[in-house]
Amino acid sequence: MHNILETKGRIFDIQRYSIHDGPGIRTIVFLKGCALRCRWCCNPESQSFEPQNMFFGGKNELVGEDVTVGEVLKTVQKDIFYYRRSGGGVTLSGGEAMLQPDFANDLLEACHMAGINTCIETTGIAKWEVIERFLGNLDYVLMDIKHMNNEKHLEYTKQPNTKIIEHAIKIAAAGADLTIRTPVIPGFNDNVEDIEDIAKFVKLLPGEHHLHLLPYHRLGEDKYAGLNRDYFYKGIPPMDTERMKVLLDAAKRVGIEAQIGG
Ligand code: SF4
Repeated sequence: MHNILETKGRIFDIQRYSIHDGPGIRTIVFLKGCALRCRWCCNPESQSFEPQNMFFGGKNELVGEDVTVGEVLKTVQKDIFYYRRSGGGVTLSGGEAMLQPDFANDLLEACHMAGINTCIETTGIAKWEVIERFLGNLDYVLMDIKHMNNEKHLEYTKQPNTKIIEHAIKIAAAGADLTIRTPVIPGFNDNVEDIEDIAKFVKLLPGEHHLHLLPYHRLGEDKYAGLNRDYFYKGIPPMDTERMKVLLDAAKRVGIEAQIGG
């Protein structure tokens, strides 16, 4: 019989004590490989599935490690006390966890069997059959809607938004506890019209769902140099707090629950 603890996958980081990626205190498992190539990505080392050398924090490191579900579970279980006290748990992030469906699903199932609450941060770009399989093992879904305009989405992320939008509707219709997240990016979607469009979409989703606006920051900039890549947003300052408040108000005026960060 298949032992889910032995299923292998590729990750590039595990962060404990996060309070930003789902409710409560959480452990974030970052899986390697993504289908998108967002110009602002703050984890450029997540994009390729292949292990890579990156010079970061004054040293060279190999990014990407093959691990088993059992090994990751052991780390995740260390903070079970904090999850229980705070309503937290584990969050799969990336990259895109759904691009390693066997490993990610077995990890979520193992966490559930250990009584640990589960969440995913996803682009929603996987095939619907794959997403459907995930929903059975998830307590929360955090899904990005970056832009409602397909051409703009394609230009800035190298992928169309058509499947993403279709899948957000299907995930909501399936009754999932879904929160939409929008990275607010200078020159891409940092204007009232684009944020209103996303807020209107969230309002139309079946069920009640919140919108989190995540301000652009430059924390990933040094990683581009470490990977010998150019940084598209070089010299562009982080999102201004007052501007974020204007965009938040625009989203709220549409009649949905919205917040900055989360
Ligand atoms: S979806 Fe996320 S991980 Fe993938 S390229 Fe975009 S920002 Fe990076």
